[in-house]
Amino acid sequence: MTYRQAMTEAADRLRSAEIRFCETPLLDASVLLAFAAGKTRENLFASYPDEIPAEILKQFNSLLAKRLEGMPVSYIRNIKEFFGRDFYVDESVLVPRPDTEILVEKAIELIDANNTEKVLDLCTGSGCIAVSLKLERSIIDITASDISAEALKTAKLNAENHGADVEFTQSDLFEKINGRFDMIVTNPPYLTSADTAEMLGTGWPEPAIALNGGDDGLDFIRIIINSSLDYLKNNGYLLIEAGPNQAVPISKLLDSEGFVDIGITKDLAGRNRVTSGRISGTYDYEI
Ligand code: GLN
Repeated sequence: MTYRQAMTEAADRLRSAEIRFCETPLLDASVLLAFAAGKTRENLFASYPDEIPAEILKQFNSLLAKRLEGMPVSYIRNIKEFFGRDFYVDESVLVPRPDTEILVEKAIELIDANNTEKVLDLCTGSGCIAVSLKLERSIIDITASDISAEALKTAKLNAENHGADVEFTQSDLFEKINGRFDMIVTNPPYLTSADTAEMLGTGWPEPAIALNGGDDGLDFIRIIINSSLDYLKNNGYLLIEAGPNQAVPISKLLDSEGFVDIGITKDLAGRNRVTSGRISGTYDYEI
């Protein structure tokens, strides 16, 4: 059997297995085959006509079996690319999505425009936001927190792997956070409980704790917006990633708490993704 045959057969099996969230059977098959063969996808392409060694085929089939059971490719390889770098991921954390790169881009834009020094990444998960921001803008002093000890272990590993100096704190939202920040960024759990149940009901292995945002998905976001007033410096920014239909309610919440310069940034699919605002005036000095 050639590499090409192994890959197309695997793609056919993935296609007919009707696994939820397997929208790219050919891509998934080629990524797993390259991983099994220890090749880049470009090198794999060059090997298509070659016979596939039995050992590699065996390894590929065992990876494929996991994918057929519904495990995402990122968990199978323990790697997810985010903002141009590879991050270690496992079932302790949400798999970073390309949508979240928009949050990083927006944060960098505001960091550059505002001489930002202190940044907080709440609900850091894999640490992909904090690590990316630190590596892109080494000048910032960044703290990353998560309620989950397992997630923090993963985030610390990612910071270590990338040599990123990030301070980590285990904290239920702001509970253990001290001081004030120039910027708070967050990709909190924001799916509705119903959507989370539906997603996990199919055997999807991401942690519910990273997804479930309550009845309307906004439980954590409401707390974050309200509490951020005590943790932002004057003119500090809050940037929140959420679902497309949550951006308008979030901007209203920001407005009602006194935020200004409220803006919505779209993701690559043109959907509302990140809502941001600046706290202005003399809040620091209010009781
Ligand atoms: N973007 C994720 C999804 O749609 C949810 C991420 C989150 O709740 N923070 O699956």
